[in-house]
Amino acid sequence: MNSHKEDESWVEADATADRDSRPTRGNRRKAPFYKVLQGMPIAVDAFCYGTIPGVTAYFLTHAHSDHYTNLGSKWKSGPIYCSEETAKLITHMLAVDPSWVHPLPLDTPTIIPDTGRVSVTLIEANHCPGSSLFFFEGQQTIDAGDSAFKSPFIGSSRSFRYLHCGDFRASPRHVLHPAVNGKRIDHIYLDTTYLNPKYTFSPQPLVISACAELTRRLVGGVGDDPNGHTNRKFTIDAWMKSPTSTEKGGQQTPQERILVIVGTYSIGKERIVKAIAQALGTKVYCDARKTAILRCQADKELHALLTADPAEANVHILPLGVVTSDNLKSYLQKFNGTFSRVIGFRPTGWTYSPPSGSNLNGSIQSIISQGQSRHFSYTDLQPSQKSSYNIQIFGVPYSEHSSFFELTCFAMSCDWGRMIPTVNVGTPASRAKMTKWLKRWESEKRSAKPYIIQPRTADYW
Ligand SMILES: [Zn+2]
Repeated sequence: MNSHKEDESWVEADATADRDSRPTRGNRRKAPFYKVLQGMPIAVDAFCYGTIPGVTAYFLTHAHSDHYTNLGSKWKSGPIYCSEETAKLITHMLAVDPSWVHPLPLDTPTIIPDTGRVSVTLIEANHCPGSSLFFFEGQQTIDAGDSAFKSPFIGSSRSFRYLHCGDFRASPRHVLHPAVNGKRIDHIYLDTTYLNPKYTFSPQPLVISACAELTRRLVGGVGDDPNGHTNRKFTIDAWMKSPTSTEKGGQQTPQERILVIVGTYSIGKERIVKAIAQALGTKVYCDARKTAILRCQADKELHALLTADPAEANVHILPLGVVTSDNLKSYLQKFNGTFSRVIGFRPTGWTYSPPSGSNLNGSIQSIISQGQSRHFSYTDLQPSQKSSYNIQIFGVPYSEHSSFFELTCFAMSCDWGRMIPTVNVGTPASRAKMTKWLKRWESEKRSAKPYIIQPRTADYW
């Protein structure tokens, strides 16, 4: 597809966009071109369009509601392919008829029936449990979908490779995966949630261990900071010392039992919960509905931590929106006598405001070197202003989408022909901002001699 054809496809996508995502009877909403793979009868995260012409395989990247809209017990438009965890989640949460659901293993190329022998490999997406990237490989056999675009490669013997990222947090593991590494990929469907240089955040594993370390220090009463952050030491010490316990040096008194609350969505952010519970050596409590969702996931370590008895667990999971000081005050009162104080964590996407005067349009090399110098430790977590001795809330800059820096590293580390944004594509202005970066990545890859971005670990650049 040349750039003129691509522009036409976006104009067509705009024309068919509709605020109402549910199709009405006899008036099916049309699927934009990027929901159906070029030349293949395969749709990805496109359930809100009902039965799409020519599509014989419907893929779901993960069980977040904006990706499965309209999927439920009445689904009968065709087979659904997804990871084993996502399959369990959608049959449990949405009551999808299991006869439509075809779970696929990770990391194993599998031929999809009725698609002209297209094969797919699922790659763990580093988003929520069960989330996957799909790596498709095969010939173009049909112009499926609603787009007027006709591929000139239908019926040719050329094999095409498409990588659909769904929602993901890009990591070196993705580009080093055997399905991807060293292969020319024709189209990458990219999670462009944060394709904007103002979205700069720290590596997720560092943020997770910072939460665990902070909790260990607060609960264990450790005020000393080996990194010499004297201000932080003061903050922790000051908070740890209750008005009457200064002579105990801020240690948790025998009567004190601190409850840690982590706010989560229905699926996602479990890694913070686990790291904190393991750091404290305690069980995890959540209500029966949330427990059933966690039990759908394949994480046996997490299952072993769960308990139905709130008094047995020092870590509780609550919906993210509930983690406010007023709510935690009532929650603590409910357990009066069991817990004396509460620490709340609010892991939310990070909207970092770069210092004024920052150059957001620097060279690709400078974007990479700045990103690689980014660190995070427990000293970067600060209690919210409304916090008190008994109720302390920490906002956590934790995202399960790629930062701008990670998208740049990912794009520079793969061999691709065309990047197709899948998020924030609703207006020409928003697309134009993203296209500017796609073009810069493209020209940097063309002009610079190939360079490898040395990851800091297998999990982050
Ligand atoms: Zn998601």
